[in-house]
Amino acid sequence: MRLIFLGPPGAGKGTQAARVSERWGIPQLSTGDMLRAAVAAGTPVGREAKAIMDSGALVPDAVVVGIVADRIEEPDAKGGFILDGFPRTVAQADALDAMLASKGMGLDTVVEFVVDEAILVERIATRARETEARGEPVRKDDNPEVFKTRLEAYRQQTAPLSAHYAGKGMLDRVDGMQPIDAVTEQLVALLTKYQG
Ligand code: AMP
Repeated sequence: MRLIFLGPPGAGKGTQAARVSERWGIPQLSTGDMLRAAVAAGTPVGREAKAIMDSGALVPDAVVVGIVADRIEEPDAKGGFILDGFPRTVAQADALDAMLASKGMGLDTVVEFVVDEAILVERIATRARETEARGEPVRKDDNPEVFKTRLEAYRQQTAPLSAHYAGKGMLDRVDGMQPIDAVTEQLVALLTKYQG
């Protein structure tokens, strides 16, 4: 299965992608995670991305498209993958289409996590508190001010992807405001129809 999980930051895409990844044995490809790893490793990409990510803005399309193109080539992605946090712009979606077409691949579906954005700000504050309680460092971009910038970036640059994929007849939706297990259930029921 080749999937895209679409939704604003804090909608639960990452949590659900991890579960789907485990259930179907396909990797979760999170551009946010890959960029954070590049920042931690101090690679050229990481050095370019760090300040942008800390501000909550989007890293240039060429950077993330390159990262994803390389990652999709790895053996564990042969049987499919879940793209989490990519594409983030229509230009990235077009680049992804071209990239997949050149490999003779297509997407099965795009799953949009529908959420109440007002509640997301609270969720993100909770996530920051929980991370702190575990003694782990809180992501700089998870503070409420930067989170609002990320939400705004989502609204302006990423939300149009919903209509973009709906227009291609490729959009499914899940109610992301349900409890975590209920979202998983809805997702599993939905994805079962795409399994090979
Ligand atoms: P995330 O963990 O998906 O919320 O991503 C964290 C940050 O990484 C974002 O706020 C962006 O700065 C950057 N990022 C992640 N994915 C992308 C992408 N597809 N395009 C541009 N920037 C991205």
